[in-house]
Amino acid sequence: MKKINYNRELCDFCGTCVSVCPQDAIELSENNLEITDKCTVCMNCVYICPLRALEVKNEG
Ligand code: SF4
Ligand code: SF4
Repeated sequence: MKKINYNRELCDFCGTCVSVCPQDAIELSENNLEITDKCTVCMNCVYICPLRALEVKNEG
């Protein structure tokens, strides 16, 4: 199963990924980001993140 992997070390919480998510699956707070179960792995956020803090990973 594919999943979006988030790297907190790289993220500057700019919110760009949130604005391109069609599923409203990204929850961003001041210093954390979570990809929720609503994610369909469309890859929008992976491509748009200027800091490459998101990547797709195979899980399970
Ligand atoms: S676009 Fe990238 S740097 Fe910006 S909040 Fe999303 S994951 Fe973080
Ligand atoms: S892969 Fe698509 S659905 Fe999943 S969090 Fe990123 S933009 Fe949203």
